[in-house]
Amino acid sequence: MLKVWKEKERYRGKVEDCLTAIITTKGCAWRKCYMCGYWTEARDLSDKALEEQFEKIFQKLEDFRILKVFTSGSFLDEREISAELRRKLVDRLKEHGVKKLIIESRPEFIEKKKLEDFKGLELEVGIGLETANDLLRENCINKGFSFSDFLRSAEILRSMGFRVKCYLILKPPFLSEKEAIQDLLESAEKVKAYADLISINLMNIQKGTLVERLWERGIYRPPWLWSALEVLNKIQTEVICDPVAGGKLRGPHNCGRCDKEVVSAIKLFSLTQDKNLLDLSCDCKKVWLKALELENYSRVPLFYT
Ligand code: SF4
Ligand SMILES: [Zn+2]
Repeated sequence: MLKVWKEKERYRGKVEDCLTAIITTKGCAWRKCYMCGYWTEARDLSDKALEEQFEKIFQKLEDFRILKVFTSGSFLDEREISAELRRKLVDRLKEHGVKKLIIESRPEFIEKKKLEDFKGLELEVGIGLETANDLLRENCINKGFSFSDFLRSAEILRSMGFRVKCYLILKPPFLSEKEAIQDLLESAEKVKAYADLISINLMNIQKGTLVERLWERGIYRPPWLWSALEVLNKIQTEVICDPVAGGKLRGPHNCGRCDKEVVSAIKLFSLTQDKNLLDLSCDCKKVWLKALELENYSRVPLFYT
């Protein structure tokens, strides 16, 4: 059900406290992305049960000025959160003095009419573009929308003075580690003119997904944390990354000895944007470099750990 916790968020160049909530809704209407198991958390709840979750968030709001509300789907899909509930939420947030609201949505639900409700708040909408390459998004991710759909929704958001966060994924299935790095860098270059912030998701293995089946058969490995450092280092715009399951076999990982240090560096970098933090080393870096080379030919990942 509802999960709420406090975390740090970069806001206007400073680090501030932020309240993050994941609410349970009917879940994503698409549910077909190869790496996504979020739909397993979806529940067909009554409006009353949904409202109760919002009430619990309000109780914990205290003097937080930034709130993230994620639904494991699309906040702007009215099948998940009705227009009435959306408006109620925004009114309550304004009463509480919340300045910034961060939500997520697929592009097809981003409409001017709905966004009017958020006027008076700084709104940031995260869109899971994953890659700027339509061919890869269709064949390796099965995302069900195009780059032009992303552009259309980003333009609507920006025309209303709202912020666009673009999620890109590191290492979709069927790409070698090297191809994945290249795709991410090319994608970041393409989207930086349309997004205020790029957020990199490092692939983790979720239950019941195609990616899990490939991983179980030894033909997919989540990205190395070195690959994450490489892309964070090279991207020339504001970029953040939260390595979910970092250091675990199901998440982005290196050799097991350096993982903790690299994950902490990535988290701190996301808050400060200080690239010096990304200058790390470990013996396993050599293995990663070899893996980059070999996987390109063999198409089979090097399972060092
Ligand atoms: S990744 Fe996003 S769009 Fe794709 S199925 Fe999961 S929640 Fe839906
Ligand atoms: Zn290491």
